[in-house]
Amino acid sequence: MADVSIYEQKLQLKRKTGIPRLLEIAGTKSILLIFASLLAVVAVLAQITPFLTVFLLVQELIGNIGNLKAIDQSYVWSLAWFTLGGVAVSGIMLYAGGMLSHIAAFNILYEIRVALAGKLARLPMGFFTRNASGRVKKVLSEDVERIELFVAHHILDILQAAVLPVVSITALFVLDWRLGLGAVIPVPLALLAQYSMMNESGLALYKQWQEKLSSMNGTIVEYVRGMPVVKVFNQTVGAFKRFAADVYAYRDLTLHWIKVSSTPFGGFITLLSSSALFITPIAIFLIRAVPEDGYASLITTVFLFLFISMGIAVPMYKLMTLVPLLIQVSTGLASIDDILDEKEIADTQSKQSLQDAEIKFKDVVFAYEQKPVLNGVSFTVHPGTVTALVGPSGGGKTTIANLIGRFWDVKTGSVTIGGMDIRDMAIEQLNETVSTVFQDVFLFFDTIEENIRMGNAEASFADVQAAAKAAQIHEFIESLPDGYQTLIGEGGTYLSGGEQQRVSIARAILKDAPVVVLDEATAYADPENEARIQAALAEVLRNKTVVIIAHRLYTITDVDQILVINNGRIEESGTHGELLAESGLYKRMWDVHAAARNWNIDTE
Ligand code: ADP
Ligand code: MG
Repeated sequence: MADVSIYEQKLQLKRKTGIPRLLEIAGTKSILLIFASLLAVVAVLAQITPFLTVFLLVQELIGNIGNLKAIDQSYVWSLAWFTLGGVAVSGIMLYAGGMLSHIAAFNILYEIRVALAGKLARLPMGFFTRNASGRVKKVLSEDVERIELFVAHHILDILQAAVLPVVSITALFVLDWRLGLGAVIPVPLALLAQYSMMNESGLALYKQWQEKLSSMNGTIVEYVRGMPVVKVFNQTVGAFKRFAADVYAYRDLTLHWIKVSSTPFGGFITLLSSSALFITPIAIFLIRAVPEDGYASLITTVFLFLFISMGIAVPMYKLMTLVPLLIQVSTGLASIDDILDEKEIADTQSKQSLQDAEIKFKDVVFAYEQKPVLNGVSFTVHPGTVTALVGPSGGGKTTIANLIGRFWDVKTGSVTIGGMDIRDMAIEQLNETVSTVFQDVFLFFDTIEENIRMGNAEASFADVQAAAKAAQIHEFIESLPDGYQTLIGEGGTYLSGGEQQRVSIARAILKDAPVVVLDEATAYADPENEARIQAALAEVLRNKTVVIIAHRLYTITDVDQILVINNGRIEESGTHGELLAESGLYKRMWDVHAAARNWNIDTE
């Protein structure tokens, strides 16, 4: 993904939207699409040859009425060849155009996928917490897929559907402009009828209808996913009712939409196919005025008119049915635009050597939205020492931990590592320097080996095993039928919470970064798991500069420094002994913990 920044430069230069932006991201590959479109237009034009042949044949016949022997045989043959050629060209062009548009779709969407993936990698974590992961996922999968299908199939469909009426109408006007006028009168009327539905309120209703559909689908998914909870809490009936209410709401909107749209749509269809109504009176009028030897030719023309004007209605109808799809695609493109327009974390490319692994917070003020979460936090973690963050929930511990990895940028103040402001550090270097073990472990749908190797892509299998041993998870992995090749289900299913935690610690051991930030898990408190996790942690923390968020105070009694975080401030700091002597918040927390431990209960 090295060349992702090129897209970025392009995107920042010009702020295009929709299809122009799509083509812009696609760059030279949009030429494929333009070429495919040209082929499609040629194919449609070639499709007209049979009509032309019929016309020319009938003219030849009429010109020789009473003396059929005079018909020029070679002319008739050449017409036959012409038709055959036209049909063949149209077939070949359609095939080639379709093929090309598929290739174009794949290539263009590949560029867009890469651009999106690269973009996501450079967005601050705030983006992901602000946007429900489902929404981002929908853009990356559904929207992108829909656009791919659209490019592969429907751009050509639209072109063909648009070209045919234009060609037909032109042909009609060339043949006889008076009849041509009669044939096109219904077109604006039909469009007017359609517009009465496709106006703003109609589109809003359509959108609402589509949204209801997706919310109903969401409810279905939730209903299935939440089934265990539903059953355990005996909520089957209630949950089903909620589900059913959504389905009914969708039904009501569907009926409403049909009611509102059927009249304009009916009008549209009826008018489009009503050109005969207008052609016939004009034809009668013309026949009355025409001299006798012009009858035959005029009748052929009228006959052709009725024939060709059908070529207007069908594609226009098709165009209309493609409108909803166009709306969906343009909404999808807008969502892609939104993501591509998101403000990124500013990055510098050059790596510089750090003095050491000292972490320093200086007067850090931070807010996720408006409400300040950290109000001037200053502390130093000396290289090779361990600092524990403790304090009541919501105080700002996780926020501090995340600022070290620059998941967000501070509002004022600074965070430095090894003397360098992390905002001046290349993101890649920061990622190499800091290893974060999250409270919520995330494992990928992949083998255990690969999940551990995420810590260091270059690691050998022996390295992976060594890390797993240090993380106290090697024996467990070996006991699985497929060992290290065991596939971990989505989100780490099949492994217990404590096992997942140790796999993620193995990852961090393998990564071997000088700074380790650890949001201690609270969930796996059974004694055996806890002892193992503690042992695994001791390994990952050896000789590192460490910030650990601790929930069980007895696990941090020997760390170098404890910071008590409350209401976005450091309320107390010192060693375990010093803090106990202060008789402040830490002492009170300790007493509660000690009492709980005496009763052998965990307070977390
Ligand atoms: P702790 O880890 O000490 O429990 P946090 O750092 O998680 O505290 O949270 C501190 C405050 O910031 C809380 O009030 C919490 O609601 C808020 N907060 C945490 N994460 C976000 C977020 N992504 N967006 C908005 N507010 C947040
Ligand atoms: Mg927290």
